[in-house]
Amino acid sequence: MKKRILLLAGGQSGEHEVSLMSARSVLGALPRDQFDVTPVVISKQGRWLPPTETQRALESGEAATGGDLVLHRVASAEGYDAVFPLLHGPMGEDGTVQGLLTLAGIPFVGSGVLGSSVSMDKVMTKQVLASAGIAQVEWRLAVRREWQQTPDAVRARAAELGFPLFVKPANLGSSVGISKVGTPDELDGALNLAFGLDRRVILEAMTSHKPREVEVGILGNDAPIASPVGELRFDAEFYDYETKYTEGRATMHIPAPLPPEVAARVQAAALTAFRALDCAGLARVDFFYVEETGELLLNEVNTMPGFTTTSMYPKLFEAAGLSYSELVTRLVGLALEER
Ligand code: ADP
Ligand code: MG
Ligand code: MG
Repeated sequence: MKKRILLLAGGQSGEHEVSLMSARSVLGALPRDQFDVTPVVISKQGRWLPPTETQRALESGEAATGGDLVLHRVASAEGYDAVFPLLHGPMGEDGTVQGLLTLAGIPFVGSGVLGSSVSMDKVMTKQVLASAGIAQVEWRLAVRREWQQTPDAVRARAAELGFPLFVKPANLGSSVGISKVGTPDELDGALNLAFGLDRRVILEAMTSHKPREVEVGILGNDAPIASPVGELRFDAEFYDYETKYTEGRATMHIPAPLPPEVAARVQAAALTAFRALDCAGLARVDFFYVEETGELLLNEVNTMPGFTTTSMYPKLFEAAGLSYSELVTRLVGLALEER
């Protein structure tokens, strides 16, 4: 019997378009002799689109409006063997959709409520990983109310980290809302931008030297494995949205040209992080490697990483001998696994 899969894509976050790109790849890759796949695109307003509108959105790459309230549609999600929530960012990758699917009793690809929500929030991630003994940059938390009522306290907290520093919405991805702040006079603009997107903002120190950016894929549930390590190189101040999604701006190096001992440290730290955060299925764990000092700092854990056929996560496992279509098949298998 073919497995019935519901593929959710789009969604309400700033990564709506990125998700639709990934969904097109996954739709093309789940073997049709094993799976009967139904895509449902979620509009930017959070409503689930019916089939014809879903098709149109997949073709155009965007769905601003339309569709039905999720609670009207979730009953129709019953009868699927598994859901592939190929959604990035808030209202998709952050435990919300995972909670809905858990309540509905439908198995799904990727981390559950706990792993998704903690990994989505860059501050919670840092707190949990610090207690797991993982090295990270220095950071501070600020919340919107504080920024509105006592902005000087927030500015002083930022200054403790020194400049340049990074200001980021705690719960986003694809570099949306992130600023590299070179001098104190750029700080307010960066904070206003980040607080416009999230109630929680993380301030992060930079490493003393420009770090190399290395990433590793993790695959599995309670016995996860690590992929080879990859590296991103680009010619920009940092890996911002434009650099990420403009063809030819960044290059992927797989395997990363690293001493084997460093690559092994990356894999070990990523597996520790995956377990500490109670992740499942898949995650891409991103690090800064400071060549001059040998420091390896964990940057973030993405529980639903970019998933087009040319994205880092699938490429990392391809280097390990797992094709894109084998990878998505394996992920559905992990969703159905008894845990
Ligand atoms: P996202 O979840 O949006 O990808 P990241 O935390 O990975 O957010 O930040 C995006 C990019 O910004 C990173 O890939 C890196 O280029 C740069 N960056 C973020 N934080 C730092 C930092 N503390 N030091 C140096 N570069 C950083
Ligand atoms: Mg991210
Ligand atoms: Mg990132």
